[in-house]
Amino acid sequence: MKTLFERSVAGRKCTILPACDVPETKPQETREKALRLPELSETDISRHYTQLAKQTFGVNDGFYPLGSCTMKYNPKVNERTASLEGFTEVHPSQNAQGCLELLKTAEQYLCEITGMDAMTFQPAAGAHGELTGLMLIKRYHELNNHPLRKKIIVPDSAHGTNPASSSMCGFTVVNIPSAEDGCVDLEKLREAVGEDTAGLMLTNPNTLGIFDKNIKAITDIVHEAGGLCYYDGANLNAVMGIARPGDMGFDCIHLNLHKSFSTPHGGGGPGSGPVGCKSFLADYLPGEKIAEENGKLCWQPRGDASIGAVRSFHGNFLVVVKAFTYLVTLGKEGVPMVAKNAVLNANYIKHLLEGTWDVAKKGTCMHEFVLTLEELKKETGVSAMDVAKALQDYGIHPPTMYFPLNVHEALMIEPTETESRETLDEAAAAFMDIWKTIQENPESLHDTPHHSPIKRPDEVNAARHPVLRYPFND
Ligand SMILES: *Cc1c(COP(=O)(O)O)cnc(C)c1O
Repeated sequence: MKTLFERSVAGRKCTILPACDVPETKPQETREKALRLPELSETDISRHYTQLAKQTFGVNDGFYPLGSCTMKYNPKVNERTASLEGFTEVHPSQNAQGCLELLKTAEQYLCEITGMDAMTFQPAAGAHGELTGLMLIKRYHELNNHPLRKKIIVPDSAHGTNPASSSMCGFTVVNIPSAEDGCVDLEKLREAVGEDTAGLMLTNPNTLGIFDKNIKAITDIVHEAGGLCYYDGANLNAVMGIARPGDMGFDCIHLNLHKSFSTPHGGGGPGSGPVGCKSFLADYLPGEKIAEENGKLCWQPRGDASIGAVRSFHGNFLVVVKAFTYLVTLGKEGVPMVAKNAVLNANYIKHLLEGTWDVAKKGTCMHEFVLTLEELKKETGVSAMDVAKALQDYGIHPPTMYFPLNVHEALMIEPTETESRETLDEAAAAFMDIWKTIQENPESLHDTPHHSPIKRPDEVNAARHPVLRYPFND
């Protein structure tokens, strides 16, 4: 496909401006060379972007079982409320009562769902929330005279951002292996905790889609050693309305509003990763808090113990508007239904696949599960990458590949709660069809996808050396 620069024709325009009635400034007088912007008609531009849009794949195009990312359908009504002028045309410094009330109510709802006492909406994404939550833990130890507590324990079933955030916050990461059943190994945890433990960071359900059955024992072990417990709640759609991290003994948590609470994501934002905590950590939260004065809501500084601001103003407010709309639409009965359907859908498709494909951990899963193609690769040479790419030819987005790291040739499948039984049946049929091809002609899978404009890009090179400028040849 040609770029806009390649389509450019000198002198072509898509605007007709009125005659200039002020002295003209020649570009040469203000800069050495005129800007080399592409010159195109509106038709060219419109077709260019439509063509680009047709080549992309989103939740509105088809099944998108990208494990851990919760690529569910986001109701359009969320966008409608988030585009109301009362929300879009307000300055964050205005004490607009409606906006403050929405934030306050959203905080109450999410605290109720998570079992936390206070929350900040400042963090702009999940990993940003992790960093913020860890800063609360750090602050707690600093102010309570525990200068030696510098280690964060992270089980190997944690999301990849957990060790990264701990390290970025200045902690030393202590990795502990999982037990055979995919849960935290309690013995290893007991050995790992000590006087230098700042806390534990747990992804639950973990990256294998397993809810840790020893969750209360885990938080007890960490607390007894003097550490705090952090819950990565990015996957809360698996448990919301059913079980609360606060009741499991966790002290702080982040949520991904742009996953569980329905904001389109995957294109780079905007997101929101609110951090909730128990009351003893609330004074350390960043940003300002909502208070009431003379019957009116207003912003108030949190005080000297606060870790300070982690982002400007009050975070990505419109994402909170979407999440709030979603919660109000669902109601108290709808929230647990989301979790039940997320778990039901994952177990349904797992059940359809498991007679043929190798599931990494047997038994009931939560909202996602992991296939391992290790044996299949040994026998046929077909890799997880080959199968993920082959799925594209069936109009299915590839699952998450080669993650978690403790499963070889992994494909991590998260159907989400918004898919119908028919879609899940079709997806399972695609997997079975690919299985048949592997038996008959494994070689043919090495150059899949056969029908996509781009087949197997060099992903490392694309990420490390992105070409972001058009290389003019003069
Ligand atoms: C997606 C995810 C994150 C990171 O969230 P971002 O918004 O991408 O920073 C953290 N933990 C888990 C379990 C996730 O699924």
